[in-house]
Amino acid sequence: MSKQKILIIGAGIAGLRAGQVLVQDSFAVTIVDKGRGVGGRMATRRFADTKADHGAQYFSVKSAIFQEFIDEAVQKQVVKSWKVTDRTHLRYVCPDGMNALPKFMAQGLDVKLTEKIVRIAHGVAFAESGEQYDFDQLIISAPIPQVLQLFEDSDILLEDEEKNILNSIQYDPCWAVMAKLKYSDSTITGGRILANSPVSWIVDNAEKGLTEHPTLTIHASADYSQSHLEENAEKVASELIASVSDMVNVEQIDTYQIHRWRYALASQRASGTFLQLKNYPVYIGGDAFGIGNVEGAFLSGQAIAQAIC
Ligand SMILES: Cc1cc2nc3c(=O)[nH]c(=O)nc-3n(C[C@H](O)[C@H](O)[C@H](O)COP(=O)(O)OP(=O)(O)OC[C@H]3O[C@@H](n4cnc5c(N)ncnc54)[C@H](O)[C@@H]3O)c2cc1C
Repeated sequence: MSKQKILIIGAGIAGLRAGQVLVQDSFAVTIVDKGRGVGGRMATRRFADTKADHGAQYFSVKSAIFQEFIDEAVQKQVVKSWKVTDRTHLRYVCPDGMNALPKFMAQGLDVKLTEKIVRIAHGVAFAESGEQYDFDQLIISAPIPQVLQLFEDSDILLEDEEKNILNSIQYDPCWAVMAKLKYSDSTITGGRILANSPVSWIVDNAEKGLTEHPTLTIHASADYSQSHLEENAEKVASELIASVSDMVNVEQIDTYQIHRWRYALASQRASGTFLQLKNYPVYIGGDAFGIGNVEGAFLSGQAIAQAIC
């Protein structure tokens, strides 16, 4: 009997976890991602001879199944535990950069990168490149506004209830500045969560173990990011740097980059761990379902794979 073909759109934590489980159960799995690397929002950027995490900064572990998986990653030195200032319980980071965990998960999986799916019709997904992928079952783990756009371009007709669920999901955006410092005399130890400021988070990536050079990640708050979403990136970067001048002197900055996450954190999520469409062999998952973070994405991928198995 020929193996069932599973196509997964999105090589973030959710898509990769689904892929890992399904491959073990002998499905023929292909994962496609529009990005140049795996990981989605578990993202690390190399620039100016240094590195910085600009998406997820750390994660927590609450469920037994994620703990079991993370214990193995800790043993393989992909992940280590880490204490965030002002937070009581333990968090985890990847000492080589947060994209090390998705890279670890992608080992042995068939992942096609720089492959953006632009249309789905009758068991075939069409990529921007002209490539076509046929499937028996499709898993989509992209941020929901991108899923809705894809459905619109695909003539996929959703039931009213499905529309309501997907339309209720919302994300906070996030502007992220990565700044390499000439020297460090900062008081930023263990990462700092800030309140009542345009900046909500600041950390030195050298402390996490990513780089030898002091290199900051500065995240804007959800409110600031939303109200400055379409503004000039340089202006935003200057404002964010200026707003942490009590911790970082502008003169200290060697060079910096800025990234805009339009869909950073799922602020309004659907209950349950995924949505299975009634009229199509399509499962929609990711951090928009459940707890809305790295662990939530993992649990969503796990649950979809188990449902298919
Ligand atoms: C700035 C920021 C800070 C964060 N901080 C934390 C934190 O501290 N702790 C925490 O737990 N979580 C944090 N998160 C959230 C966490 O990163 C996400 O919850 C998690 O990584 C989501 O994984 P996912 O697989 O659901 O989605 P994603 O990682 O977004 O993966 C979806 C993938 O789909 C791909 N894709 C989309 N459309 C298409 C298409 N048409 N064709 C092909 N591929 C497509 C994308 O390229 C992407 O790789 C943060 C996120 C951001 C952005």
